[in-house]
Amino acid sequence: MTIHDQLTQNLNEIQDQIQLACVQAGRSLNDVRLVAVTKYAEWSWVEALSSLHQTFGENRPQQLAERQVLLPEIEWHLIGQLQRNKVKLALQHARVIHSIDSLRLLERVAQVAAELQLRPGVLIQANMSQETTKSGFTVEELRHDWSQIVSFSKAVQINGFMTMAAESDVPEDARPVFRSLRLLRDELQQTDASHSAGLALRELSMGMSGDFVPAIEEGATMVRIGSRIFDGL
Ligand SMILES: *Cc1c(COP(=O)(O)O)cnc(C)c1O
Repeated sequence: MTIHDQLTQNLNEIQDQIQLACVQAGRSLNDVRLVAVTKYAEWSWVEALSSLHQTFGENRPQQLAERQVLLPEIEWHLIGQLQRNKVKLALQHARVIHSIDSLRLLERVAQVAAELQLRPGVLIQANMSQETTKSGFTVEELRHDWSQIVSFSKAVQINGFMTMAAESDVPEDARPVFRSLRLLRDELQQTDASHSAGLALRELSMGMSGDFVPAIEEGATMVRIGSRIFDGL
């Protein structure tokens, strides 16, 4: 099979599963975007994929920047940890940053965005599983720091949240994490801070190759899928 045919087959299978999960949850297929994660993909696969899909995610700003220049028609999302010294690079090449994991980072992103006269889309990364190895705001930090986070919404568009569930062979294990992020989003959406800033926290970036079905059933609007797309290559 050619690279193109294998990618087409994999994407079709994934889209079918996304559609099924949407039906299951009574959601519209249009409300779920597939972010194709290309971080481990060879360049020839990325090129082939670019004729089949338009939204790509990378977890390193450097590789994102290099690839964005070669495929500028693709919408690139940064999904991995961002060091403060890479913020300018990230903002020059990424449309959306999924991985705002601290106030210090958000402050820097807001500052650089203003300098570049951009107003990027950002998602606040939540660490729902309280794993110390994972980055992101804990639930307590999100509640405590929320009005400070919202205070940056003039410089950046705060569109919602991102999370990662703990690794597991059982997709259902991730469901409680996804559900609690949706409920936390609902709670923070109702705060005075969100209302006064006119925030619409519509995006929930959650679900990867192993757990995107429960993520969609729990309200994901973006699923970040890597390995499944490149299966068989
Ligand atoms: C790698 C990565 C993904 C995709 O993981 P797969 O299991 O390959 O689908 C999603 N989100 C983040 C933040 C990642 O780093």
